[in-house]
Amino acid sequence: MKPIASLSLDLDNKWSYMKTHGDAGWESFPTYLDVVVPRSLEFLRERNLKITYFIVGQDAVRDENKEAIAQISNANHEIGNHSFKHEPWLHLYSKEELAEEFEKTEKALENITGQRTIGFRGPGYSLSPTVLEVLAERNYEYDCSTLPTYIAPLARAYYFFKSPEMTEEEREKRKKLFGKFSDGFQSLKPYKWQIGEKSLVEIPVTTLPFFKTPIHASYVIYLSTFSKTLARTYWKTAIEMCRMTGTPISLLLHPLDFLSGEDAPELKFFPAMNLPVEKKLEFVGEILEIFAEKFEIVNMRQHAETVRRESIKSLIVETAKS
Ligand SMILES: [Zn+2]
Repeated sequence: MKPIASLSLDLDNKWSYMKTHGDAGWESFPTYLDVVVPRSLEFLRERNLKITYFIVGQDAVRDENKEAIAQISNANHEIGNHSFKHEPWLHLYSKEELAEEFEKTEKALENITGQRTIGFRGPGYSLSPTVLEVLAERNYEYDCSTLPTYIAPLARAYYFFKSPEMTEEEREKRKKLFGKFSDGFQSLKPYKWQIGEKSLVEIPVTTLPFFKTPIHASYVIYLSTFSKTLARTYWKTAIEMCRMTGTPISLLLHPLDFLSGEDAPELKFFPAMNLPVEKKLEFVGEILEIFAEKFEIVNMRQHAETVRRESIKSLIVETAKS
């Protein structure tokens, strides 16, 4: 039997890329979901894959996106929560702001799809003990907002210790918290967050064992613009290293893996947007085929259920109250 691996797509919309990049015009929430959703669904259908789409709440409250989001659910893919406003500084939100952020997204998505989200991925892999606490209170089963790299934990530590409202006592407490909490950012393998009585399965976005460089599809496509052979070799090596180290893979797709500059001229500045869409899809198909030879590909919910059944390491999340 092949080991399990999961596949998900973060449905970042055109406006969220423009917002991050500081481009004017994002405030009217320009969308490409009507193009990228049918295209990605067709691609997955041809390969008989059922995955998880992480969707932004802001998109689910706008009429022009509802048809596309309904198509995802009708095709039996899992719907996950990707926050409401898609701001990569979620770890700076208060508990109340987080609860509102999650509730609005859950409602909007449930209205369209009938699915209650049980999984979360933070925008820009942002996470904090408070985010985990709110997820546990809202009965989430899993989180997949950690990306084990060498850079991200340092950036986050900076934010944690810079918060101006913190008293000295709180700061000391946070330092201890951060010790335990940050352990999670190092792990390539799934584990559990223990939050009071509740627990959440954490499935890190897989990076290359030892080197911790990204292995999601966009990065491999980017490499392919220099050399297809290089990109293929990198990908095969990554799969093999994960297999050898017993690291379960959770692979990530993005809308730009299914789009070219012609589809979204505003995003032409992104890597590999000059590739014609047929070439891109052909290459994504190729790396997924290599992936499927070694692993059984499932959605995030199934991956989390499998992980929960195994005995895995637990990290205790101390919340502000405790
Ligand atoms: Zn995103």
